[in-house]
Amino acid sequence: MEKGKSKKIFEQAQLSIPGGVNSPVRAFRAVGGEPVFMESAQGAYMTDIDGNSYIDLINSWGPMILGHGNPLIADAVTDAVKRSLSFGTPTAAEVTMAELICSMVPSMDKVRMVNSGTEATMSAIRVARGYTGRDKIIKFEGCYHGHGDSFLIAAGSGAATMGEPDSPGVTKGTARDTLTVPYNNLEKLQEVVHENKDQVAAIILEPVVGNMGCVPPIDGYLQGLRQICDDHGIVLIFDEVMTGFRLASGGAQELYGVKADMTTLGKIIGGGMPVGAYGGRADIMDMVSPKGPVYQAGTLSGNPVAMAAGLAMLGYLHDNRGLYVQLESVQQIITGGIRTNMKRLGLNYQINAVGSMFSLFFTETPVVDFETAKTSDLTMFGKYFNAMLNRGVYLAPSQYETLFLSTAIGEAEMEKIIAANYEALQEIH
Ligand code: PLP
Repeated sequence: MEKGKSKKIFEQAQLSIPGGVNSPVRAFRAVGGEPVFMESAQGAYMTDIDGNSYIDLINSWGPMILGHGNPLIADAVTDAVKRSLSFGTPTAAEVTMAELICSMVPSMDKVRMVNSGTEATMSAIRVARGYTGRDKIIKFEGCYHGHGDSFLIAAGSGAATMGEPDSPGVTKGTARDTLTVPYNNLEKLQEVVHENKDQVAAIILEPVVGNMGCVPPIDGYLQGLRQICDDHGIVLIFDEVMTGFRLASGGAQELYGVKADMTTLGKIIGGGMPVGAYGGRADIMDMVSPKGPVYQAGTLSGNPVAMAAGLAMLGYLHDNRGLYVQLESVQQIITGGIRTNMKRLGLNYQINAVGSMFSLFFTETPVVDFETAKTSDLTMFGKYFNAMLNRGVYLAPSQYETLFLSTAIGEAEMEKIIAANYEALQEIH
């Protein structure tokens, strides 16, 4: 596989962009390789600047659920561009978008558009703090909610450890207000809530985690969280930036039958354009300026081109709910094929999957939280990633990221993925 042009431009990129990329995971550091630079994409495939083509299993980290180059979305964008790139005024499309989101996610009475998932989560916790008059938030080890200061906090030992900043630049003061506990463990959470009685504004989580690899909630976990929040007047925030409109048209909340007080959304609601949103119960969202006192704003929020793309995407998902069944069966065929391959090779690695999200972990320990996710052999993952890339399958370049399927993946692609997986596993053992 020729990669000369990617290699050359990566060298050049490092002179003008920190690390040569605009988002760290793209640099392939975690997998011991050099990134390939993409030029175009269509359906299930991306093509790099050296002319290599890859089956895409990240789909822009979620939003390309219909595959690349979907004409419905491309036409909506082209149309919108002709009218205006940006007004900086209200538009009717924003109202339609808000109504559509609220009709599809039943726990959302009102919603505010922003420009990224990070903005959505940062704003949601500010509103939750304003609403409750409390300062602390609880997040879960291994969950990622964007790069807002409050979320870049690692857990120390013990359940209620006061946070230490994960990144230089996050102040100790900010870190102190973020409490971290293990995912899928209601007891530890109860302990922390009791130790911080009447001080916790919000509990935020990915209802199905994508950011430690795919880790589903165990039975009753989300219901337990709901109960704890109800008992203690805590705002429950589901960060559905990955799972929203991907696992079901009403997101993970619909799939697991649990309503959040607030929900954050991103990626997919822009159909590939930079968009995010946060929303929830009317009494909470009415805290947001100019209706209420909690300030949040954005020059490009509700951008008309992004709204056009998002409306086309969500409209399609709204009218074609059968696609979630189709996507899940594609996942089952692929993960079933991988399981068969592993059996033939005498391997017993873990696969986690929900709907169109799945991960292969290089460990025999069931993965239910960040501690168990970290038992995966990262050297093995890196070798596997590169072996798959060389066979034309583009995986997420980190063990701690889920894979995402699109409806553009057909039988031919499934066969190629399963065959590549067999060869790759054989090669690295
Ligand atoms: N929340 C979750 C669950 C995410 O996966 C991400 C990004 O991957 C974010 C928030 C941040 O979104 P963005 O990268 O658009 O700022």
